[in-house]
Amino acid sequence: MRILLTNDDGIYAEGLQVLVRRFQQVAETFVVAPDHEQSATGHAITMHRPLRAEKIKFLHSPKVLAWSVNGTPADCVKLAVEAILPEKPDLVISGINRGANLGTDVLYSGTVSAAIEAAILGLPAIAVSLTEYKEPVYDYAAEFICKMARSLTLEKGISPGTLLNVNVPGCGRESMSGVSLTRLGVRQYRNAFERRTDPRGRTYYWLAGELIETMDGDDTDVAAIKRCRISVTPIHFDLTNHDLLARLKDWKIEL
Ligand code: MN
Repeated sequence: MRILLTNDDGIYAEGLQVLVRRFQQVAETFVVAPDHEQSATGHAITMHRPLRAEKIKFLHSPKVLAWSVNGTPADCVKLAVEAILPEKPDLVISGINRGANLGTDVLYSGTVSAAIEAAILGLPAIAVSLTEYKEPVYDYAAEFICKMARSLTLEKGISPGTLLNVNVPGCGRESMSGVSLTRLGVRQYRNAFERRTDPRGRTYYWLAGELIETMDGDDTDVAAIKRCRISVTPIHFDLTNHDLLARLKDWKIEL
């Protein structure tokens, strides 16, 4: 199995390094990841300056071929598949992100966007995040993804144009109560911007805000994480509203 690993926290982030150490034992592992943190860059790509991919070596995994790229997570996957890797990977894994990627937040996520880019290129992909931000311990999330990657690629397969968004709760292996297949929930923030004054008396804004707990059913990713379960959500990038499209079928729009 040939695996491409990437992330949005930067190539030296612990969550990615834990994946590298685990996957190098079971698969031909390549890493193409941003040279610095690119969280919340969404699906941005670089068009107005050159991209450079610097080959690097991990001391703990010298056999893994790795490139550090001065671009976004989506750039990394595009560049890896279309220019750097000798052959297409069997699976692309993006993560392990430091912090959750749940509900509507997936639209801002660099982690999820890297996996979406892989899906656009026709490759099976998984985005994986650990919901604990302050003191993340990645080992069990890496073990779970490794197990899942094997059974998924060997047995089930992911339908084309689709990726799996996995969130692992930070509660620790002993407290985890299982795995839920979920749909995306909603995440909203209260007082999103903090208004401050700079030393020259000018106003500036800083995005922060606290999360509003919205419960819109117990089958969402948000609800699963609350119950200390691993959440697996199949996502596709077709944003078409197919229900409305069908209902509008008889609508005559004249030129
Ligand atoms: Mn991140």
